[in-house]
Amino acid sequence: MAKKMNIISTIVGSFPTKSYKPQSFNERLTYRLGLFDSYRQSIEHCVESFVRNDVNIICDGQVREDMVKIFTDKINGFRNIDNTSHIKGKITPAAHPISVKDLQIAFRKAKKLDSKFKLNAPLNEIYTNDAKGVKGIITGPTTLIHSSIIDRFYNTKVNAIYDVAKALTIEARALEKAGACAIQIDEPFISTGAEDICVSKKAVEIISSNINIPVILHVCGDLTDVLGDLLEFNVDILDLEFAGMPDNIKTLKNEWDDVYDKQIGIGCINTRSEDVDSEDVVRKTVKDVTNIIDKDEIIIDPDCGMRTLPLEVADKKLKVINKIKEEGI
Ligand SMILES: [Zn+2]
Repeated sequence: MAKKMNIISTIVGSFPTKSYKPQSFNERLTYRLGLFDSYRQSIEHCVESFVRNDVNIICDGQVREDMVKIFTDKINGFRNIDNTSHIKGKITPAAHPISVKDLQIAFRKAKKLDSKFKLNAPLNEIYTNDAKGVKGIITGPTTLIHSSIIDRFYNTKVNAIYDVAKALTIEARALEKAGACAIQIDEPFISTGAEDICVSKKAVEIISSNINIPVILHVCGDLTDVLGDLLEFNVDILDLEFAGMPDNIKTLKNEWDDVYDKQIGIGCINTRSEDVDSEDVVRKTVKDVTNIIDKDEIIIDPDCGMRTLPLEVADKKLKVINKIKEEGI
Protein backbone atom coordinates (compact mmCIF):
# COMPACT_ATOMS: atom_id res chain seq x y z
CA MET A 1 0.00 0.00 0.00
CA ALA A 2 1.47 3.32 -1.05
CA LYS A 3 1.80 5.84 1.73
CA LYS A 4 -0.14 9.09 1.63
CA MET A 5 1.72 11.81 -0.21
CA ASN A 6 0.90 15.44 -0.70
CA ILE A 7 1.86 16.28 -4.24
CA ILE A 8 1.96 19.91 -5.35
CA SER A 9 2.98 21.40 -8.65
CA THR A 10 4.89 24.40 -9.86
CA ILE A 11 6.25 25.76 -13.11
CA VAL A 12 9.94 26.48 -13.66
CA GLY A 13 9.52 29.74 -15.50
CA SER A 14 9.22 30.71 -19.09
CA PHE A 15 5.87 29.93 -20.62
CA PRO A 16 4.68 30.47 -24.21
CA THR A 17 3.43 34.01 -24.72
CA LYS A 18 1.23 35.80 -27.14
CA SER A 19 2.00 39.38 -27.86
CA TYR A 20 -0.89 41.75 -27.54
CA LYS A 21 -1.80 44.83 -29.47
CA PRO A 22 -3.88 47.62 -27.98
CA GLN A 23 -7.56 46.96 -28.72
CA SER A 24 -9.94 49.10 -26.72
CA PHE A 25 -10.17 52.88 -26.87
CA ASN A 26 -8.42 53.08 -23.51
CA GLU A 27 -5.63 50.75 -24.58
CA ARG A 28 -5.09 52.68 -27.81
CA LEU A 29 -4.94 55.89 -25.83
CA THR A 30 -2.40 54.58 -23.33
CA TYR A 31 -0.47 53.15 -26.30
CA ARG A 32 -0.26 56.59 -27.89
CA LEU A 33 0.96 58.01 -24.59
CA GLY A 34 3.61 55.28 -24.42
CA LEU A 35 2.00 53.76 -21.32
CA PHE A 36 0.47 50.62 -22.78
CA ASP A 37 2.02 47.54 -21.21
CA SER A 38 1.73 44.81 -23.83
CA TYR A 39 3.25 42.32 -21.40
CA ARG A 40 0.52 42.65 -18.79
CA GLN A 41 -1.92 40.59 -20.86
CA SER A 42 0.78 38.03 -21.61
CA ILE A 43 1.35 37.58 -17.88
CA GLU A 44 -2.38 37.31 -17.24
CA HIS A 45 -2.70 34.81 -20.05
CA CYS A 46 0.04 32.60 -18.55
CA VAL A 47 -1.60 32.86 -15.14
CA GLU A 48 -4.95 31.74 -16.60
CA SER A 49 -3.28 28.63 -17.92
CA PHE A 50 -1.52 27.94 -14.59
CA VAL A 51 -4.70 28.39 -12.55
CA ARG A 52 -6.80 26.35 -15.00
CA ASN A 53 -4.34 23.51 -14.48
CA ASP A 54 -4.35 23.94 -10.70
CA VAL A 55 -0.65 24.82 -10.38
CA ASN A 56 0.04 25.39 -6.66
CA ILE A 57 3.06 27.68 -6.95
CA ILE A 58 2.83 29.89 -10.01
CA CYS A 59 5.05 32.63 -11.42
CA ASP A 60 4.63 35.50 -13.85
CA GLY A 61 5.53 33.28 -16.82
CA GLN A 62 8.74 35.24 -17.46
CA VAL A 63 7.24 36.87 -20.50
CA ARG A 64 9.49 39.92 -20.52
CA GLU A 65 12.68 39.56 -22.56
CA ASP A 66 15.11 36.74 -21.91
CA MET A 67 16.30 35.62 -18.49
CA VAL A 68 19.61 37.48 -18.73
CA LYS A 69 18.50 40.70 -20.36
CA ILE A 70 15.66 41.36 -17.93
CA PHE A 71 18.28 41.72 -15.15
CA THR A 72 21.25 43.16 -17.02
CA ASP A 73 18.98 45.88 -18.42
CA LYS A 74 18.33 47.19 -14.91
CA ILE A 75 21.25 46.29 -12.66
CA ASN A 76 23.92 49.01 -12.69
CA GLY A 77 27.25 48.16 -14.27
CA PHE A 78 25.84 46.29 -17.26
CA ARG A 79 25.10 47.55 -20.73
CA ASN A 80 23.33 45.51 -23.40
CA ILE A 81 24.91 45.99 -26.81
CA ASP A 82 23.48 44.08 -29.79
CA ASN A 83 21.72 41.69 -27.45
CA THR A 84 24.91 40.86 -25.59
CA SER A 85 25.41 41.93 -22.01
CA HIS A 86 28.65 43.81 -21.32
CA ILE A 87 30.05 44.75 -17.93
CA LYS A 88 31.16 48.36 -18.04
CA GLY A 89 31.69 49.20 -14.37
CA LYS A 90 31.12 48.25 -10.75
CA ILE A 91 27.94 46.18 -10.42
CA THR A 92 25.46 47.72 -7.97
CA PRO A 93 21.74 47.16 -7.31
CA ALA A 94 19.08 48.36 -9.75
CA ALA A 95 17.51 51.69 -8.86
CA HIS A 96 14.05 50.09 -8.69
CA PRO A 97 12.75 46.54 -8.21
CA ILE A 98 12.91 44.65 -11.50
CA SER A 99 10.10 42.11 -11.37
CA VAL A 100 7.91 43.13 -8.41
CA LYS A 101 5.28 44.65 -10.66
CA ASP A 102 4.97 41.46 -12.70
CA LEU A 103 4.61 39.40 -9.52
CA GLN A 104 1.80 41.71 -8.45
CA ILE A 105 0.07 41.43 -11.83
CA ALA A 106 0.31 37.63 -11.62
CA PHE A 107 -0.96 37.56 -8.04
CA ARG A 108 -3.95 39.80 -8.68
CA LYS A 109 -5.01 37.79 -11.71
CA ALA A 110 -4.58 34.49 -9.86
CA LYS A 111 -6.50 35.68 -6.81
CA LYS A 112 -9.42 36.68 -9.03
CA LEU A 113 -9.56 33.18 -10.48
CA ASP A 114 -8.86 31.21 -7.29
CA SER A 115 -9.31 32.63 -3.79
CA LYS A 116 -6.72 30.22 -2.38
CA PHE A 117 -3.94 32.45 -3.69
CA LYS A 118 -2.34 34.25 -0.78
CA LEU A 119 0.55 36.68 -0.43
CA ASN A 120 3.59 35.07 1.24
CA ALA A 121 1.71 31.75 1.27
CA PRO A 122 3.58 29.46 3.69
CA LEU A 123 4.90 26.27 2.08
CA ASN A 124 3.22 24.01 4.66
CA GLU A 125 -0.18 25.50 3.76
CA ILE A 126 0.57 25.00 0.08
CA TYR A 127 1.37 21.33 0.70
CA THR A 128 -1.98 20.82 2.47
CA ASN A 129 -3.76 22.72 -0.34
CA ASP A 130 -4.97 25.42 2.04
CA ALA A 131 -3.09 28.09 0.09
CA LYS A 132 -1.49 28.75 -3.25
CA GLY A 133 1.37 31.11 -3.91
CA VAL A 134 3.34 33.10 -6.45
CA LYS A 135 7.11 32.76 -6.47
CA GLY A 136 9.64 35.32 -7.58
CA ILE A 137 12.27 34.20 -10.09
CA ILE A 138 15.73 35.62 -10.47
CA THR A 139 18.54 34.58 -12.76
CA GLY A 140 21.49 33.45 -10.67
CA PRO A 141 24.83 35.24 -10.27
CA THR A 142 26.93 32.61 -12.05
CA THR A 143 24.59 32.50 -15.03
CA LEU A 144 24.35 36.29 -15.34
CA ILE A 145 28.11 36.81 -15.28
CA HIS A 146 28.95 33.88 -17.53
CA SER A 147 26.45 35.24 -20.06
CA SER A 148 28.21 38.62 -20.05
CA ILE A 149 31.46 40.00 -21.42
CA ILE A 150 33.66 41.89 -18.99
CA ASP A 151 34.87 45.09 -20.71
CA ARG A 152 35.99 47.05 -17.69
CA PHE A 153 36.41 47.13 -13.91
CA TYR A 154 36.70 43.39 -13.09
CA ASN A 155 39.82 41.34 -13.76
CA THR A 156 38.08 38.06 -13.07
CA LYS A 157 34.51 36.85 -13.11
CA VAL A 158 34.59 35.89 -9.42
CA ASN A 159 34.21 39.37 -7.92
CA ALA A 160 31.60 40.27 -10.53
CA ILE A 161 29.64 37.19 -9.45
CA TYR A 162 29.69 38.27 -5.80
CA ASP A 163 28.71 41.84 -6.67
CA VAL A 164 25.78 40.74 -8.80
CA ALA A 165 24.73 38.37 -5.98
CA LYS A 166 24.51 41.39 -3.69
CA ALA A 167 22.47 43.30 -6.27
CA LEU A 168 20.15 40.29 -6.70
CA THR A 169 19.69 40.07 -2.92
CA ILE A 170 18.01 43.48 -3.02
CA GLU A 171 15.67 42.19 -5.74
CA ALA A 172 14.94 38.98 -3.80
CA ARG A 173 14.07 41.00 -0.70
CA ALA A 174 11.77 43.25 -2.69
CA LEU A 175 9.98 40.18 -4.08
CA GLU A 176 9.65 38.75 -0.58
CA LYS A 177 8.19 42.01 0.66
CA ALA A 178 5.76 42.10 -2.28
CA GLY A 179 4.34 38.72 -1.24
CA ALA A 180 6.35 36.00 -2.99
CA CYS A 181 5.94 32.58 -1.37
CA ALA A 182 9.46 31.58 -2.44
CA ILE A 183 12.39 32.83 -4.47
CA GLN A 184 13.64 30.68 -7.32
CA ILE A 185 17.21 31.22 -8.43
CA ASP A 186 17.85 29.96 -11.98
CA GLU A 187 21.41 28.73 -12.50
CA PRO A 188 21.57 26.70 -15.73
CA PHE A 189 25.29 27.49 -16.04
CA ILE A 190 26.26 25.62 -12.87
CA SER A 191 26.02 22.22 -14.56
CA THR A 192 28.33 23.30 -17.39
CA GLY A 193 31.29 23.45 -15.01
CA ALA A 194 32.12 26.94 -16.30
CA GLU A 195 32.60 28.22 -12.76
CA ASP A 196 34.27 26.88 -9.61
CA ILE A 197 31.28 25.47 -7.75
CA CYS A 198 32.49 26.96 -4.44
CA VAL A 199 32.11 30.42 -6.00
CA SER A 200 28.63 29.58 -7.32
CA LYS A 201 27.66 28.24 -3.89
CA LYS A 202 28.89 31.30 -2.02
CA ALA A 203 27.04 33.58 -4.45
CA VAL A 204 23.73 31.70 -4.16
CA GLU A 205 24.08 31.74 -0.38
CA ILE A 206 24.63 35.52 -0.32
CA ILE A 207 21.05 35.66 -1.59
CA SER A 208 19.52 32.73 0.32
CA SER A 209 20.93 33.81 3.70
CA ASN A 210 19.33 37.23 3.36
CA ILE A 211 15.69 36.25 2.82
CA ASN A 212 13.19 34.50 5.05
CA ILE A 213 11.06 32.64 2.52
CA PRO A 214 12.03 29.28 0.96
CA VAL A 215 14.68 29.37 -1.74
CA ILE A 216 14.44 27.14 -4.78
CA LEU A 217 17.60 26.62 -6.81
CA HIS A 218 16.92 25.49 -10.37
CA VAL A 219 19.82 23.83 -12.16
CA CYS A 220 19.28 22.00 -15.43
CA GLY A 221 21.44 19.83 -17.63
CA ASP A 222 23.53 16.79 -16.77
CA LEU A 223 24.25 16.85 -13.04
CA THR A 224 26.83 14.06 -12.85
CA ASP A 225 29.69 16.32 -11.80
CA VAL A 226 27.80 18.81 -9.64
CA LEU A 227 24.93 17.17 -7.79
CA GLY A 228 27.04 16.09 -4.81
CA ASP A 229 27.99 19.74 -4.28
CA LEU A 230 24.51 21.10 -5.03
CA LEU A 231 23.08 18.99 -2.21
CA GLU A 232 25.31 20.97 0.16
CA PHE A 233 24.01 24.39 -0.97
CA ASN A 234 22.08 26.32 1.67
CA VAL A 235 18.73 26.31 -0.19
CA ASP A 236 15.41 24.68 0.66
CA ILE A 237 14.51 23.14 -2.66
CA LEU A 238 16.66 21.92 -5.55
CA ASP A 239 14.64 21.92 -8.75
CA LEU A 240 16.14 19.51 -11.25
CA GLU A 241 15.20 18.08 -14.64
CA PHE A 242 14.65 14.37 -14.90
CA ALA A 243 12.33 13.90 -17.88
CA GLY A 244 14.72 15.24 -20.53
CA MET A 245 17.76 14.02 -18.59
CA PRO A 246 16.91 10.57 -17.17
CA ASP A 247 20.54 9.96 -16.16
CA ASN A 248 20.00 12.51 -13.40
CA ILE A 249 17.93 9.88 -11.60
CA LYS A 250 20.97 7.60 -11.45
CA THR A 251 23.13 10.50 -10.28
CA LEU A 252 20.62 11.35 -7.56
CA LYS A 253 20.62 7.73 -6.40
CA ASN A 254 24.41 7.83 -6.10
CA GLU A 255 24.59 11.15 -4.28
CA TRP A 256 21.47 11.24 -2.11
CA ASP A 257 21.73 10.67 1.60
CA ASP A 258 18.86 10.71 4.08
CA VAL A 259 20.64 13.41 6.11
CA TYR A 260 19.58 15.95 3.45
CA ASP A 261 16.45 17.76 4.55
CA LYS A 262 16.24 19.42 1.16
CA GLN A 263 13.26 19.04 -1.05
CA ILE A 264 13.77 18.02 -4.67
CA GLY A 265 11.57 19.66 -7.32
CA ILE A 266 10.97 16.86 -9.78
CA GLY A 267 11.07 17.99 -13.42
CA CYS A 268 8.99 15.21 -14.97
CA ILE A 269 7.65 16.61 -18.24
CA ASN A 270 9.84 16.63 -21.33
CA THR A 271 9.83 20.15 -22.74
CA ARG A 272 12.05 19.30 -25.72
CA SER A 273 9.28 17.36 -27.41
CA GLU A 274 6.00 18.67 -28.73
CA ASP A 275 4.36 15.32 -28.06
CA VAL A 276 2.25 15.31 -24.94
CA ASP A 277 3.96 13.08 -22.37
CA SER A 278 2.44 9.74 -21.52
CA GLU A 279 1.09 9.65 -17.98
CA ASP A 280 2.78 6.34 -17.33
CA VAL A 281 6.20 7.70 -18.24
CA VAL A 282 5.70 10.81 -16.10
CA ARG A 283 4.45 8.74 -13.19
CA LYS A 284 7.47 6.46 -13.43
CA THR A 285 9.87 9.44 -13.37
CA VAL A 286 8.20 10.83 -10.26
CA LYS A 287 8.13 7.42 -8.62
CA ASP A 288 11.81 6.75 -9.36
CA VAL A 289 12.79 10.03 -7.72
CA THR A 290 10.49 9.70 -4.71
CA ASN A 291 11.79 6.18 -4.09
CA ILE A 292 15.22 7.77 -3.61
CA ILE A 293 14.32 10.85 -1.56
CA ASP A 294 11.54 9.18 0.45
CA LYS A 295 9.39 12.21 1.36
CA ASP A 296 5.69 12.60 2.14
CA GLU A 297 5.55 15.93 0.40
CA ILE A 298 6.45 16.14 -3.27
CA ILE A 299 6.86 18.99 -5.73
CA ILE A 300 6.53 18.20 -9.43
CA ASP A 301 6.94 20.46 -12.45
CA PRO A 302 7.79 20.38 -16.14
CA ASP A 303 11.47 20.60 -17.08
CA CYS A 304 12.41 24.16 -17.95
CA GLY A 305 12.09 25.70 -21.40
CA MET A 306 8.37 25.61 -22.11
CA ARG A 307 8.64 28.94 -23.93
CA THR A 308 9.35 27.36 -27.29
CA LEU A 309 6.32 25.04 -27.22
CA PRO A 310 3.02 25.92 -28.86
CA LEU A 311 0.66 27.23 -26.20
CA GLU A 312 -1.84 24.37 -26.61
CA VAL A 313 0.93 21.81 -26.15
CA ALA A 314 2.24 23.54 -23.02
CA ASP A 315 -1.27 23.62 -21.65
CA LYS A 316 -1.77 19.90 -22.34
CA LYS A 317 1.53 19.12 -20.64
CA LEU A 318 0.36 20.99 -17.53
CA LYS A 319 -2.79 18.87 -17.63
CA VAL A 320 -0.67 15.73 -17.35
CA ILE A 321 1.07 17.17 -14.27
CA ASN A 322 -2.32 17.88 -12.75
CA LYS A 323 -3.53 14.36 -13.46
CA ILE A 324 -0.53 12.87 -11.67
CA LYS A 325 -1.16 15.19 -8.75
CA GLU A 326 -4.80 14.17 -8.51
CA GLU A 327 -4.36 10.47 -9.02
CA GLY A 328 -1.11 10.09 -7.13
CA ILE A 329 1.73 7.79 -8.04
ZN1 LIG B 1 16.64 25.24 -16.65
